[in-house]
Amino acid sequence: MDYEPVIGLEVHAQLKTKTKIFCSCSTRFGAPPNTHTCPVCLGMPGVLPVLNKQVVEYTLRMALATHCTINRESRFARKNYFYPDLPKGYQISQYELPIARDGFVDIEINSGKKRIGITRIHMEEDAGKLTHDPDRPLSMVDFNRTGVPLMEIVSEPDIRTPEEAGAYLRNLRAIVRYLDISDGNMEEGSFRCDANVSIRPKGAEAFGTRAELKNLNSFKHVEKALSFEIFRQKEILEDGGQIIQETRLWDPDKNRSTSMRGKEEAHDYRYFPDPDLLPLVIDDDWIDSIQNSIPELPDEKKKRFMDEYHLPAYDADFLTSNRELAGYFETCVKDFPNPKQVSNWVMGSLMGLLNVQGKSITESPISSKDLAQLLHLIDKKTISSKIAKTVFDEMAQTGRPPKEIVTEKGLVQVTDESAIKAVVLKVLQECSTEVKDYKNGKTKLFGFFVGQVMKETKGKANPKMVNEIVKKVLSE
Ligand code: ADP
Ligand code: MG
Ligand code: ZN
Repeated sequence: MDYEPVIGLEVHAQLKTKTKIFCSCSTRFGAPPNTHTCPVCLGMPGVLPVLNKQVVEYTLRMALATHCTINRESRFARKNYFYPDLPKGYQISQYELPIARDGFVDIEINSGKKRIGITRIHMEEDAGKLTHDPDRPLSMVDFNRTGVPLMEIVSEPDIRTPEEAGAYLRNLRAIVRYLDISDGNMEEGSFRCDANVSIRPKGAEAFGTRAELKNLNSFKHVEKALSFEIFRQKEILEDGGQIIQETRLWDPDKNRSTSMRGKEEAHDYRYFPDPDLLPLVIDDDWIDSIQNSIPELPDEKKKRFMDEYHLPAYDADFLTSNRELAGYFETCVKDFPNPKQVSNWVMGSLMGLLNVQGKSITESPISSKDLAQLLHLIDKKTISSKIAKTVFDEMAQTGRPPKEIVTEKGLVQVTDESAIKAVVLKVLQECSTEVKDYKNGKTKLFGFFVGQVMKETKGKANPKMVNEIVKKVLSE
């Protein structure tokens, strides 16, 4: 039988606020354990939480960017459970009345465009962090992360393949980064994903029983874990077995998942509205002003890059995957208005350089101004494209502008016909044996002569002119 996977993702994005969601403790990562804590985030009796307005603003940005309906009144609830990383014994989250619902994002996959529904977006607090000593029966807890603001984005079960899941996640990550509300870093845990998966016979309407996968710390893990889970469920059903609803933990070293616990039900958590927090009321003015502050998003930018700069979809997609990269490209095009050529250099040489140096575009040793200047030098035939590579490397090493390098090192291209001809004559004279062979039909030697001339001029001669002059002299 043919099965169809059904996948829904729950994404937790850590919001980039300076302070925690209900107290003024710092959210900075990497501080010594338990130094960013106070009676509120430690859950002492008698304290009261105060909602951080920035958390609401950031979540509203995401909600509007993903076409959600904003609930003008939402509520915080207590999700009750016991775990040592949760000092209050409950997590403050939103439950029946989240801040936003019914949105979508469009993804692009090989087979085309597809819309993935967003069920809801809500705010909640993070828990602390446990570390377990491998040698002793000892666990330690760090409450610095307790109360750090999270935004949870729950998708509809609209995703059908691991590839679609990857595309959806990349899209969400690009959006949170464009909005500047989260680092979106999966490896560092500021962007986390739980994946719900079930399979059903192809053509069937009813969903199968799902498993929830946790511990997916990279895009690669998400896609691998989903493929494994789909395979695992198929095997069970084909053997006449039944899927049990459970939470499973992905083990990236062993490339498989193991059962962690049976699926808990919402009623197990005894959700109830948090009596310490007022209902959250959002007025139209606030929504309008946030709507107006939303920048051009990746999808629109990609479309504009294709329309305005006539770039191929691949280039547009690549360049708009990151807001800073798109900005770099656009400032460069302002100075050197040949978009495709700028795109080639940015995606080729520049990306290669940044990958080797492990740098992001904002740390590029070559500014967009200097790259544009280099392209002008090539365009005006001041330097050959071969020499341009040398200049580029020098720019990368020293951060100096290309004009300076070209002048100082005497790299200006030789386009003086008589100067080139003199070198050609000299080279052909020195290679008289090869010239004889050439005239006897060994025409392959042509490239050798050109190469010798280029070598003699240290790559500075205009290659096209060298070709022409060598041809002319040989036929004389
Ligand atoms: P919880 O994890 O608290 O049970 P939900 O019931 O809201 O939360 O569902 C979580 C996610 O599971 C959502 O993204 C939803 O799309 C997805 N989902 C629900 N049912 C299925 C199913 N049968 N197969 C795959 N995914 C599902
Ligand atoms: Mg869940
Ligand atoms: Zn605190």
